[in-house]
Formats: sequence, C-alpha cells, structure tokens
Amino acid sequence: MEELELAIIGGGIAGISCAMYAKRAGLNPVIFEKSALGGQLMYINRIDNYPAVTPGSTGAAFLNVLSSSVKELNVEVKEENIVKIDKEEKRAIISSENREYSAKAIVVASGASFRKLGVEGENEFAGRGVSWCAVCDGYFFKGKEVAIVGGGNTAVEDAVYLSSICSKVYLIHRRGSLRALDYLQKELFAKGNIEVIWNSIVKKISGDNFVKGIEIENVVDNKKSVLAVNALFEAVGIKPNTDICSGVIDIDDGGFIITDEYMKTSCDYIYACGDCRKRPLRQLITAASEGAIAALSAYRYLKNSYVSY
Ligand code: NAP
Repeated sequence: MEELELAIIGGGIAGISCAMYAKRAGLNPVIFEKSALGGQLMYINRIDNYPAVTPGSTGAAFLNVLSSSVKELNVEVKEENIVKIDKEEKRAIISSENREYSAKAIVVASGASFRKLGVEGENEFAGRGVSWCAVCDGYFFKGKEVAIVGGGNTAVEDAVYLSSICSKVYLIHRRGSLRALDYLQKELFAKGNIEVIWNSIVKKISGDNFVKGIEIENVVDNKKSVLAVNALFEAVGIKPNTDICSGVIDIDDGGFIITDEYMKTSCDYIYACGDCRKRPLRQLITAASEGAIAALSAYRYLKNSYVSY
C-alpha cells in the first residue's frame, strides 16, 4: 500500500491552495481529484471580489494560473475518486475505487455539488434544457427565452450572464426579495430583458426531446401558469460532498464538516477547508485562505513543529 504524508481530497481552489502551502512548507502533498482540477471554478462566469484579479475574469482563466502553479511546484495529482476513509491509530486508510492508500494526515477539500429542485421532468430533461451551469450551457440557448430558478448570488449572477446571450431571461424566486449581494441585484434590475417572477416555485418541466416549457405556481395566490422557455437553469444552492466523512468526523445537520479555526476536525490528523466545511462566507478568497491554514496545521501536526500563523 502506498504511504502518503498528506492526502488532499479535492482539487478545487481550497485543495490547490492547501497543496501549494504544504509543498512550500516542505511536505509531500498528493491531491486526489475525481475529474479535473478546478471544482466549481469551471462554472464561474466572472470573478469580482478577489484582490488583484481583474474584475470580470472568468473562473477558467483563474484556474489556468492555479494549474500552472500546481505544475511548477511539482505537486502530484491523482485522478481518483476517494470513496472511503478508515481511521486507524495515527493514520487513515483512504480508498479510491481501485486502490488503498495510507495517509499520515488528510485535508478534506471535497467542495460541494449543486442542489436539485426534485420536480417532475428534472431528470428527464437534464442535459436537454435543464442545466446547473449557465457558463457551460448558456451558449446553446443563444437568442432563446430561458428561465433560472433561485434568489442567491449564483442565480442573479447567472441571470445577468444569460441576459447577454438569450433574448429573454425569467428569474423565478420563491420569495419576494432576493438574498443576492446588493451590487448584483442592481445589475439584474438594470437589464431590460430580465423579468423577475416573485413568490413562485417551479412545479413541472415539460417538452418533447427538449424543454419547451415550465409550469410555475404563485405561492401567494396558488395560481398556476406556464412559461414557454427552452431551458431551465437551476441555482438553488449547494450541498457538501461529505458522504465519505459521515461517521468518521463530526459533520453538522446539513452535512458540512465542523472544524476549529485551524481547520482541524474532530480527528487529530484530519483537516477540512472550502465549501465542504461549515463556514460563514462561501467565497473563493475564503476557500483559498482556509486551504493555506489547513496546510500549515497539517504541517504542525506532522512535523510536531511550530510554524507561525
Ligand atoms: P444560496 O445562497 O444558498 O441561494 C440559494 C437560493 O435558492 C436561495 O435564494 C433560496 O431561496 C433558493 N432555493 C433553495 N431551495 C429552493 C427550492 N427548493 N426551490 C426554489 N428555490 C430554492 O446558493 P448559491 O446562490 O448557489 O450560492 C452558494 C454560496 O456561494 C453562497 O454562500 C453564495 O454567497 C456563494 N456565492 C457567492 C458569489 C459571489 O460572491 N459573487 C457568487 C456565487 C455564489 P431563499 O432565498 O428563499 O432561501
């Protein structure tokens, strides 16, 4: 069985930042990433709030720079999906689909996935008009009418993005006010081709080969109506990718990993950072910072040595 000093589970910004700090501190981190490096970065159409990054840069451009740092630092990346963590005395056995590894310390940076609405037609039309990624799929609906559901930062940012591609964008929100940041709301309301449909929920998605319409219901007067759109983009929040942590470390009711301020979990040699962690602010900058802290905490544990924070 291959012995690892530090296994980082997840190659999004939190995992990459962790690997960079760990490598520069003299550790030998290995990133496990089930698909491609980047995680949710691939779905970000623009980055506004990251110091020294030109506002409006894409997540993909940001990821390019990050990936070259990983290469320059010679950080090993294994394209494997970790499916199990078993705790042992002073080490963990982590299992991918085909192999097992022994790790002296672990950083869980497994991120989060898009939540689904769970309505009729959602699975049937997934990839045929139902999408969770405006950046990836928006262009397929150039000049068409589309809808997006949700009232958070993702929904509003994506509505603004889609409004530059599509002829009309309906933003469907279940309440009468949005939770998105103020400056994003201002951009949304300034667009002439976005219509917000307040106090409404999606009941059903229908079509033939592709989406042709969605049935919505006003939750105040219970009136139902049909919107003739070619796509529904879902932006109703995220859920942490922490199934492998259940029963291994403490997680909260929503599945988010509980850590202290040093990113240490309920197990001495397991740390967590980024969107899989219970945290007050879900941003690139906080994920990157938490990755750095997790790396130095793991260093301190592994080397039994003080490093200044
Ligand atoms: P979010 O902030 O959790 O918002 C989810 C939205 O979906 C809420 O408006 C919620 O309605 C609605 N919703 C949830 N379940 C629903 C359902 N079953 N039916 C209809 N509507 C439903 O999620 P997010 O926008 O994906 O953002 C995730 C995290 O990333 C947040 O912390 C966010 O701040 C962060 N983020 C930040 C930026 C940025 O700073 N530029 C950009 C993107 C994401 P209610 O409002 O009624 O609860």
